[in-house]
Amino acid sequence: MSISVNEIRKDFPLLENQKVIYMDTAATSQKPACVLEAEREFYEKYNANPLRGLYELGEAATEKYEEARETVRGFLNARETAEIVFVRNATEGLNLVAYSLGSLVLKPGDEILVSIMEHHSNLLPWQQAAARTGAVVKYLECTEDGKYTEEAFKEALSDRTKIVAMTQVSNVLGCKNNIKRFAQLAHEAGAYFVADGAQSVPHMAVDVQDLDVDFLAFSGHKMYAPMGIGVLYARRELLEQMPPFLCGGEMIDSVSRTGAVWAEVPHKFEAGTVNGAGAYALAEAIRYVQKIGFDFIEEREAKLTKLLMDGMKEIPAVHILGSQKAEDHHGIVTFKLDGVHPHDVASVLDADHIAVRAGHHCAQPLLQHLKVLSTTRVSLGVYNTEEEIQAFLTSLAGIRRQMGYGE
Ligand code: PMP
Repeated sequence: MSISVNEIRKDFPLLENQKVIYMDTAATSQKPACVLEAEREFYEKYNANPLRGLYELGEAATEKYEEARETVRGFLNARETAEIVFVRNATEGLNLVAYSLGSLVLKPGDEILVSIMEHHSNLLPWQQAAARTGAVVKYLECTEDGKYTEEAFKEALSDRTKIVAMTQVSNVLGCKNNIKRFAQLAHEAGAYFVADGAQSVPHMAVDVQDLDVDFLAFSGHKMYAPMGIGVLYARRELLEQMPPFLCGGEMIDSVSRTGAVWAEVPHKFEAGTVNGAGAYALAEAIRYVQKIGFDFIEEREAKLTKLLMDGMKEIPAVHILGSQKAEDHHGIVTFKLDGVHPHDVASVLDADHIAVRAGHHCAQPLLQHLKVLSTTRVSLGVYNTEEEIQAFLTSLAGIRRQMGYGE
């Protein structure tokens, strides 16, 4: 099937209707019309509280919700739907693992190995789990170009390591970690491997059986789905042993004055009213991505990233964080511009209708490790065009002049 970017752009109402060059997809993606329609369709045709109603409409809501779970299962190639837990976002999924797995396996003095490039969502929950259990957080340091060597990883593991937490793609450096290999090494050392898929799942095929990770979380909203729906993949046998994270309606089998019998997984981990419309729309977003295909998405994003980085390297006073090779960046390029605060960079770009992110990108320990305070980040999606990259480069090249520098 041949697809053109012009066709893809027509799928996104906001990009069609507004004057914006959107380069902040790592924060959240734009949404195609089919996803917006799906969310509406759920409320128009199937709206009742899923997993509760014994009447026809309630059963339809449950059916759509569980069908969405099956779509996610197939998308990630999980063994069974019981391994797919719907959550609000990657943050909630990672907090769930840190709390519940942490309670199950961590003892005083145990180690949690966390990569230094983690988003705060895959770092703060581990600090909290350590504080609760007496375990310690150990950091795995990366090189300046965002690499972890196998030797460094093996050295950081010890017989006290119980959990390793690592992102598949960094939201700052754009680099991809070989989580398949690191999960294997973690398992050999007797540790569980928790992967953050927030920046990988929207951009590349992710097969949890092939990667052999124990947990992987992602957010729908970064993958063309609505906000408020995310996924935690987890091995069934671990979910069964782990205590629940949130307690309340629908996560129990029975309740007495003194306790409860938990529902079967994954419902044990889905307390309270679920986001039925969000799950339904996420399934539509998955079909949308599958229709375009990851071959196309990866090729497109790699081509645009190369164009972007080649152009940025020509502009004096621009410094790209991490690897200087475009193939090491997966649609994410973070940079500094000498003498100009990143917030000013973003404001000047905004005046040209270019939306980028400035700040610490919720990865302060990484920025401290790289000895930078604040940066500007460009992140791409399947809808970006060559013309948009050129417009960005032209705007970027003029910023220092506007600020009164000679060039
Ligand atoms: N991990 C990574 C690598 C991210 O980039 C983000 C979002 N910036 C998150 C986790 C958290 O995602 P959310 O805010 O959707 O929970």
